[in-house]
Amino acid sequence: MKYLVTGGAGFIGSNLVDALMEEGHEVIAFDNLSSGEESYVAHHMGNDRFKLIKGDLMDPPSIEEATKGIEFVFHLAANPDVRHGIERTRIDLEQGTIATHNLLEAMRKNGVKKIGFSSSSTVYGEATELPTPETYGPMLPISLYGASKLACEGMISSYCHSFNMQAWMYRFANVIGHRGTHGVLVDFIEKLRNDPTNMEILGDGKQKKSYFLVQDCVAGLIMGTKKSNEQVNMFNLACEEWTDVTEVADIVTQEMNLENVEYHYTGGTRGWVGDIPRTWLSIDKARAMGWGPSHSSEEAVRLAVRDLLKSR
Ligand code: NAD
Repeated sequence: MKYLVTGGAGFIGSNLVDALMEEGHEVIAFDNLSSGEESYVAHHMGNDRFKLIKGDLMDPPSIEEATKGIEFVFHLAANPDVRHGIERTRIDLEQGTIATHNLLEAMRKNGVKKIGFSSSSTVYGEATELPTPETYGPMLPISLYGASKLACEGMISSYCHSFNMQAWMYRFANVIGHRGTHGVLVDFIEKLRNDPTNMEILGDGKQKKSYFLVQDCVAGLIMGTKKSNEQVNMFNLACEEWTDVTEVADIVTQEMNLENVEYHYTGGTRGWVGDIPRTWLSIDKARAMGWGPSHSSEEAVRLAVRDLLKSR
């Protein structure tokens, strides 16, 4: 099969490229390298089944050209950081919603019928039902990032129904691990490398999230497309437990062999405006198709920290 992966030089995207290449497919990674890195896909260069296109979804002609002859698009390119939306209030509109529209138009014009999309638990906002199932509503995001993801879901669904396309959409919890580019683990490691005695922790440290490894995420992305065949397929991908931020900080300090690090909490129940203090997704639907995370949330954090310490 011939795949295009937008954001294919990013954290999750490059791991997905590896898995698709491993399965023997032809793969084009389309990436503007704003947060991704060419080195993440460098090991595929020279393989005639792989191509990296340095292109931007905000440039319609380049994505129109890239989607010619493609059978399946995995759309992962976006602003990946919820916090950016506070200072730059157009970033999620542009890099999320408009970029997705540009991609869908390119697909429509070129007759590409299948899309996989990386959505997020942030679409649920502060859900009152925990664990939160895919059917939860009303969905009222509290960040511009979450709003953009929800808008993208709506637009993808409407393209499916208007132009006879098919979609697999995945709402991820916190994905961590090999080639991680951002997020709490990367932040803590960088802070402790700068100062191994003190660390600032955003919020009160009690925010609870579910963490799962990128290889499990990629397995879920691919499995969903093989095991479900509705016009619009929707899955939560997450871990069933959660880990609080202070526990994450403890694991990072242990793995860095640091003792007596003083934690300084910035206070409040959220790490930043738009942060959701408790996220817990139901994964019953993904489990029913045979998917599940390979490690608990805490184990996943430890393994990801070890990997990041080696590779960053
Ligand atoms: P990432 O920043 O590593 O990947 C995003 C990639 O998209 C980068 O390589 C970047 O260069 C590229 N990109 C951004 N804007 C682009 C544009 N206009 N044109 C072309 N390329 C562009 O982040 P990631 O964590 O791998 O995230 C991948 C996707 O998964 C994103 O859509 C993100 O919102 C979603 N997601 C991630 C998590 C997580 O925990 N990492 C959770 C939920 C959803």
